[in-house]
Amino acid sequence: MNTPVSGAAANEARANQTAFRDADLASVTDIAEARVHHDTTARSLRESLALLGDRLAGRMHVPGDSGWDDARAAWNLAVDQRPVAVVVAAGVNDIVQTVLAAKSLGLAVAPQATGHNAGPLAAANGLADALLLRTSEMRGVQVDPELRVARVEAGALWGDVVAAVAPHGLAALAGSSHDVGVVGYTLGGGVSWLARSHGLAANHVSAIELVTADGRRRRVDASHEPELFWALRGGGGDFGVVTAIEFRLFPVAEIVAGTLFFPIERAEEVMQAWAAWTATVPDTVTSVGRLLRFPPMPELPPFLSGRSFVVVEAAIHESPERAVELLAPLRGLAPGMDSVHPQSVAELLRLHMDPPGPTPGYGDGMLLADLSPATVRAFIDAVGPDADTALLTVEIRHLGGALRPEVARSSAAERGAPEPGVVAGFDAEYLVFGAGIAIPGAEEALAASLGRLLSRVEPWRAGVDYLNFAEHERSAERLFGDRVARLRAVKNAVDPTGVIRSNHPVGR
Ligand SMILES: Cc1cc2nc3c(=O)[nH]c(=O)nc-3n(C[C@H](O)[C@H](O)[C@H](O)COP(=O)(O)OP(=O)(O)OC[C@H]3O[C@@H](n4cnc5c(N)ncnc54)[C@H](O)[C@@H]3O)c2cc1C
Repeated sequence: MNTPVSGAAANEARANQTAFRDADLASVTDIAEARVHHDTTARSLRESLALLGDRLAGRMHVPGDSGWDDARAAWNLAVDQRPVAVVVAAGVNDIVQTVLAAKSLGLAVAPQATGHNAGPLAAANGLADALLLRTSEMRGVQVDPELRVARVEAGALWGDVVAAVAPHGLAALAGSSHDVGVVGYTLGGGVSWLARSHGLAANHVSAIELVTADGRRRRVDASHEPELFWALRGGGGDFGVVTAIEFRLFPVAEIVAGTLFFPIERAEEVMQAWAAWTATVPDTVTSVGRLLRFPPMPELPPFLSGRSFVVVEAAIHESPERAVELLAPLRGLAPGMDSVHPQSVAELLRLHMDPPGPTPGYGDGMLLADLSPATVRAFIDAVGPDADTALLTVEIRHLGGALRPEVARSSAAERGAPEPGVVAGFDAEYLVFGAGIAIPGAEEALAASLGRLLSRVEPWRAGVDYLNFAEHERSAERLFGDRVARLRAVKNAVDPTGVIRSNHPVGR
């Protein structure tokens, strides 16, 4: 790595590398003693946590302190997280200390970068016996432009990575939003605007550094602990606290991208035309067909505020001339606005018009095996212009291409890259997702609207769901299908007592 973009946290991690063992042992002994000399009462727990707090380079918040509400807040502001305490880690040593302390106290550790997918974690008070471990202040990013590799720390956001790699003419397989966490996104799979040409982000990861439930720091890759490396790439955050990941970058500086806007009254015509078009385009085109109902808000530009649209968003990794040819059938529908143009790949973080910051959201999604005219009709019945819906955004993403498992496997073999992880790709050609703003009082209408959408398209549902777009609880079988037993074997090997708590546990 010859171009450290933000090296402070990385240096701290290196310095800690030699020191952490002694510190670990001392803290565990202290905490264990605190338990022996007191019953497991609230007082002894407080004392034990205070011992942990004293040893952190970062900080700890407990209920009632002045930073408590900020520390426990998730990006999804509708989620009420109530853990035993929150640790805001300053570096890897804080993570080791937290895991060891939690283990000795019989608590769980729930790692979290942003809280974009905090809903399932906090459901049914799932944090009542857990320390919430925030990695949000570990945002170091290092780029090696020659090797085309990035190494990023646990709390880095996609905005951090894109800002670091774009000046080198490189692209990462980033999410649609600047403030989604790189690690959470990648552990779940990672569907980017380059997904149909490059596959899942998880399958371009070359190494993962983590702290496992025994407090050990490990670096896993295709040759070192390959089974753990397999589980981490698509299996989510159940196997340890990831402290850094390394992944490939791509020489993509420019892309043709943008949005075609049509009045929502044309939803069925446009969505049918888009669905038919997706069956004809090459893998260099990744697109979304979407219905958007913008609330009247002064923060929005006047041409969007209070208006509703059916839109097609597209990222086309082709020359501008070829992109014009590819777009002709959709442009032939005469969109009211057309923002598609050649642009820096960094601009893709704006294409999906995601919320600029933390938002109270209520949403969920599922994979669709297929998208027939009847599927589109069912979608329009549930959320189209005549539907009574509280959802502000409902989208269908086109998958396929390099996201097909067999394509992902053969392309990894051709490149001599590691075999794909637990989610090589999807046996599903499309993904549907709907969401609304969860302001107080709106929950019932949102739940009913989302239920209507998902039940209408259920006949086309694929065999499994996609972890990153599962914003409510799911069974491990629903997320991982026949790979559950292998994932549980990894979980039992690295975390037999269930110290690490993820939002989508694989079970044991
Ligand atoms: C506005 C928005 C846009 C999105 N766009 C996309 C998109 O384009 N493509 C896509 O695939 N997904 C997308 N997602 C889904 C997103 O990838 C998931 O919500 C993902 O879980 C977010 O990761 P996070 O770290 O930001 O969230 P968090 O809620 O912080 O983390 C989610 C889970 O990841 C695990 N985790 C996080 N950090 C660690 C760690 N250091 N060690 C171990 N486990 C960890 C934990 O299990 C945690 O519960 C989007 C979500 C939103 C809300």
